[in-house]
Amino acid sequence: MLRHHFQSYLDGVRREGRYRIFADLERDAARPPYARWRDGSNCRDVVVWCSNDYLGMGRHPLVIDAMVKTAQRTGTGAGGTRNISGNSHAVITLEAELADLHRKDAALVFSSGYVANEAALGTIGRLLPDCLILSDERNHASMIAGIRASGADKQIFRHNDLDHLETMLRHAGHFRPKVIAFESLYSMDGDIAPISRICDLAEKFGAITYLDEVHAVGLYGARGAGIAERDGVMDRVDVIEGTLAKGFGVVGGYIAADAVICDTIRSAAPSFIFTTAMPPAVAAAATQSVVHLKKSIAVRIAHWLQVDKTRRALRNAGIPMMSLESHIIPVPVGDPDLCREASTLLMEKFGLYLQPINYPTVPRGTERLRITPTPFHNDQMIEDLANALCEVWDTLGLRFEAINRAPMLHPHSFITGASQYSHRYAGANPL
Ligand SMILES: *Cc1c(COP(=O)(O)O)cnc(C)c1O
Repeated sequence: MLRHHFQSYLDGVRREGRYRIFADLERDAARPPYARWRDGSNCRDVVVWCSNDYLGMGRHPLVIDAMVKTAQRTGTGAGGTRNISGNSHAVITLEAELADLHRKDAALVFSSGYVANEAALGTIGRLLPDCLILSDERNHASMIAGIRASGADKQIFRHNDLDHLETMLRHAGHFRPKVIAFESLYSMDGDIAPISRICDLAEKFGAITYLDEVHAVGLYGARGAGIAERDGVMDRVDVIEGTLAKGFGVVGGYIAADAVICDTIRSAAPSFIFTTAMPPAVAAAATQSVVHLKKSIAVRIAHWLQVDKTRRALRNAGIPMMSLESHIIPVPVGDPDLCREASTLLMEKFGLYLQPINYPTVPRGTERLRITPTPFHNDQMIEDLANALCEVWDTLGLRFEAINRAPMLHPHSFITGASQYSHRYAGANPL
């Protein structure tokens, strides 16, 4: 038997302290952000602090209702691939809604955001003759998979480093087809790409821009279309890729782009063609979520107020934070065992769920906790989190930050763009 090969792989992962244990959780739709946690024969409520359902849309009554009613009307599954069973009407509606969200000609829906990146980058890179893909070094695994699958040449530029990107573009020459693949919001570091300046370079050197807005859709911009909308550059990005699973709280992925690009990927990508379509009930729920967030800036503001309060509480407690540019609050630990211990203590002693983030999700030595407040985390929960982190930091001998009393940016600036507010904070340290 070859079983020992697998066993020795797992032993290695365990030795490195990065063997992953997934908690047994059941989210409580009636009482967000609580979930029931089962640990052996014990069962208790915990506060979830690391969900990517950033706005709690996964439990929104309108979204749940759309899913339930559509399932009752049309059944649970799609009944086949789109090639075999056609388009369900709910998916057509969803694609129209997404194209409108991003102000593009068309949109195309996939089983997940991972598949969307893999299919879109794979097809674009394969069909453009002699294509060169320029990829940010922190790009998500799904983009890397797409670039690999395309067989195109790839060059990796240093994270958000425009000089490095420009050197590569210049070196490739004006006539070679080029794609710049990057994210708007890097979810493990919580930092944001200079989209406008990347578009400047793309225009100057004749490149296509491919932007993953997975962690920003629903959350940023006046209608929740993402950072490109917030920054007023959505029309300058050629392909926008997003997920329906994070801010929108359902599941599925998509691209929004020129109709010819969408039609090409529809016609050529195996991971679009050879897999069963999204169930109509899922599409209807996602549509409801997108429609709701287009008009409800109140959800985004409620979210930002709690993000802001959380950051202030952690700062006052001296808990280190890696970035304050986005709604994601990464807290560095820097060691896989301590990171797991911190997570275990938070769960077992304080009933707070914060999954440790280890290699290969982040580089070794940069292990961290990643805090994502939602509009449902109330002020008491935020205070409890700060106190619990202090105790855990003390217990494990982790490094505290010197307490910083400089003013912080107004939370609204994160949704609507800093420029409107920057005059008020001119010269202030953004920390
Ligand atoms: C989560 C994620 C994806 C994949 O989206 P899913 O819908 O979860 O498959 C793609 N890109 C980035 C940057 C992500 O973090």
